[in-house]
Amino acid sequence: MRVYADNAATTAMSRTAIDAMLPYFDNIYGNPSSLHSLGQVAKEALDAARKTVADCLGCEPREIIFTSGGSEADNQAILSAARVGLRKGKKHIISTAFEHHAVLHTLQKLEKEGYEVTYLDVNNADHNISVQQVKDAIREDTCLVTTMYANNEIGSVLPIAEIGAVCQKAGIPFHTDAVQAVGHIKINVREQNIDMLSLSAHKFHGPKGVGALYVRKGFPLVNVIEGGAQERGKRAGTENIAGICGMAAAMKEACDRIDETMPKVAAMRDKLIEGLSKIPHCALNGDRVNRLPNNVSFCFEGIEGESLLLYLDAQGICASSGSACTSGSLDPSHVLLAIGRVHDVAHGSLRLSLSDYNTMEEMDHILTVVPQVVQLLRNMSPVWRDLQVGKRQYIL
Ligand SMILES: *Cc1c(COP(=O)(O)O)cnc(C)c1O
Repeated sequence: MRVYADNAATTAMSRTAIDAMLPYFDNIYGNPSSLHSLGQVAKEALDAARKTVADCLGCEPREIIFTSGGSEADNQAILSAARVGLRKGKKHIISTAFEHHAVLHTLQKLEKEGYEVTYLDVNNADHNISVQQVKDAIREDTCLVTTMYANNEIGSVLPIAEIGAVCQKAGIPFHTDAVQAVGHIKINVREQNIDMLSLSAHKFHGPKGVGALYVRKGFPLVNVIEGGAQERGKRAGTENIAGICGMAAAMKEACDRIDETMPKVAAMRDKLIEGLSKIPHCALNGDRVNRLPNNVSFCFEGIEGESLLLYLDAQGICASSGSACTSGSLDPSHVLLAIGRVHDVAHGSLRLSLSDYNTMEEMDHILTVVPQVVQLLRNMSPVWRDLQVGKRQYIL
């Protein structure tokens, strides 16, 4: 049995998305900027995809810019707000300590240019950010609030509508990296007072290398990629028509089916959380209540996450220790440190991220295998021996 439980890293493409893409690799190869009929067919597909994406978010098609993915959308949103702030002499940004690197590294670049960033601490009780923290951090010179919608490692879902309302009242642009939320949680950018939102197709059964940035009309975007006048002059380069059509198809499918898939996925999540909690000396990471329907994240004391992953892989289970972007690095995850896990404990992490393609039978397999592998690794672990004989104190 092979169980794919790494959907926060990427998802399998849906058949609908693949079928929506194929014609654009084949006979519909026109450039949407061309005036002839073959170009115009591509242009119509581009327009239709833009409308689909806009409908799913509750905005207008002209508020959607297609990008190469979530990272590019994050970069463009943040750099644009920073530029607008600069014109008004405002160089303070509010974000959180557990953002994705696409946001964190962009903010660090701005700090080197003289911007000041407040990284809100993650509450170590509920592993989340409160709207009061955002309120308290706002200053005269704040030019942007950027907080993720849902955390990719631990699944906490932030109070986005509340943060949006606070920002709107204060007249501060609000961007959210919603890459883990789109297709998994219902979103309406108007109702939630969101000014900019990043999304990525490959996190909801669409293709890799394509995403979008929603920008409230009137907000002056800055180009990250200069060139032709595509995307209303805001993002140059011949459009990835196949990718965009695949994304739109996947997004429509995910949004249309969300009422059916969300409870199904959440039930699998809850089964895993309940079962894995029985392993001694472990802790659930992330907000228990406000949580992505597909995220399960634990720390197990006395073991090493990387070994756990290799043993699970040998048993057919594809999982992750944290985020795909940091695997291969020996530093513990900044997200787990932000929720107060100490280094040793943070190293023993496991993230199982599900999708509606998973089944309850697969959950049973995970619940059989994970406790066995944790025990096996603990039996080999000198740290675990020290804990058991009292040479070290248990933390979890
Ligand atoms: C995956 C991810 C990204 C990056 O998206 P890409 O399309 O892979 O560039 C950004 N933010 C979050 C929260 C993510 O999970």
